Amino acid sequence: MRIPLTRGGGFFAPRHEGATILYCFTTQRRRPKGFGHMDDSTRMERLRALPSIDELLARPSVSSLLAPHSRNLGVTAVREAVASLRARILNGEDVRFDEKDIAAALARLSGPKLKRVINATGVVLHTNLGRAPLHAAAIDRIAQIAAGYSNLEFDLDEGERGSRYQPVVELLCALTGAEDAMVVNNCAASVLLIASALGNGREVIVSRGEAVEIGGGFRIPDVMRQSGAGMIEVGTTNRTRLDDYANAITDQTALLIKVHRSNFALVGFQEEVTVRELAKLGHERAVLTYVDLGSGLAKPLHGEGLSGEATVASVVAQGADVVSFSGDKLLGGPQAGVIVGKRDVLARLKKHPLNRALRIDKLTVAALEATLELYRDGREDELPVRAALTASLETLHIRATRLALLLGTGVKHRVVETRGRVGGGSMPLADPPSWAVVLEGAGATIHDKLRAGETPVVGRIADDEVWLDVRCVADTELEALAAAVRNLKW
Ligand SMILES: *Cc1c(COP(=O)(O)O)cnc(C)c1O
Repeated sequence: MRIPLTRGGGFFAPRHEGATILYCFTTQRRRPKGFGHMDDSTRMERLRALPSIDELLARPSVSSLLAPHSRNLGVTAVREAVASLRARILNGEDVRFDEKDIAAALARLSGPKLKRVINATGVVLHTNLGRAPLHAAAIDRIAQIAAGYSNLEFDLDEGERGSRYQPVVELLCALTGAEDAMVVNNCAASVLLIASALGNGREVIVSRGEAVEIGGGFRIPDVMRQSGAGMIEVGTTNRTRLDDYANAITDQTALLIKVHRSNFALVGFQEEVTVRELAKLGHERAVLTYVDLGSGLAKPLHGEGLSGEATVASVVAQGADVVSFSGDKLLGGPQAGVIVGKRDVLARLKKHPLNRALRIDKLTVAALEATLELYRDGREDELPVRAALTASLETLHIRATRLALLLGTGVKHRVVETRGRVGGGSMPLADPPSWAVVLEGAGATIHDKLRAGETPVVGRIADDEVWLDVRCVADTELEALAAAVRNLKW
């Protein structure tokens, strides 16, 4: 699938995550120039000139290259280097063996597969690029806790078993105004746990406009089926009224569910019920109300182009019995599924057997606690996600200009204003203005090379040119980004 481009520097990143994957990672392999015209005998000659694996392994210079690695890895690297040369020759390229090829294969094989990537897409919460980068305080806390033992499930005052959520419960309650809080592995796990613990064997009511797919195949109807709750859909795709819910409530109803439209928007002739109305109905009819917020804005964001998203606290204040949201979306912390709400409801969730299977690990608790402390201390705008979203146009312009200077005169480029995305299934309509450096005359092939480099860079392509949006590029990454571009063989 190709996404149509808009001319004149328009931003075309699709509005939901699934398609973003296709966009960013679609590569167009081009046939090299002259393919099919090259003389077969020239090709055969070049192939014959390639040294054999045994010959290479016997060379002292190659042996010393391989010395720091295991024999297995070394042999694999030599095989890969030769195989790749072979493929390139067959493809018509004029290449010869060089020991650098073995060094490159060794680096690829021995280096980590999960690597730092420079995000020049302008999409702040890019699920494929790991969503929220952590604040230094959260990283330090992870390092401290990871290096030794901790009181993860040990109450130091009482000297007995404690709860692993304890470190974050008070912070979450203070932030959201809820009575109680708990945390699981991610927000998808929250939805599954809540539907299973509260809805199994009974019915849950969901608006047709909110029976959505969240991304990565996580579909509300499927999750409800998995949880053993019968899902009753009410209303229509674009309009659902309070009566629709009220008329569907029976003695089998366990839960009224509201799912945040995180990754798409309904515009035009549409109507939905507020959390306040739904919770009031629920209380009157003795049915619980659950709001899955997904993106979970913890404190208001003030930035150009960011639409008015409700905070978690405002949803809790409207009377929802239980609310879930992600730790690594707008909150700006580690991957986690945060659940806040009424004490008796959360007690049922904590007791459910699925909770043990979905539990959060200690490194996440550590990072989440440090992240929430920043909110407590009024320092939340230091969080990388919030800083990227609220960066002023002037800051972004300066950053783009610095990048352009670092690129130097060897690379043809221009600095232009553009628009970004929040991403990660958050604020689908927001398109905060940003600045980008456009690599002139560089298309998909250059983008492929940037992605495959030692410091991988993912940008975007518009009008057949590579755009490097600086919104999510840290100032400390500018030099590495410029070097990655300068070092390319164009
Ligand atoms: C993103 C999202 C989820 C899933 O959250 P993860 O943390 O990615 O598991 C669930 N519900 C909504 C409404 C979301 O936006």
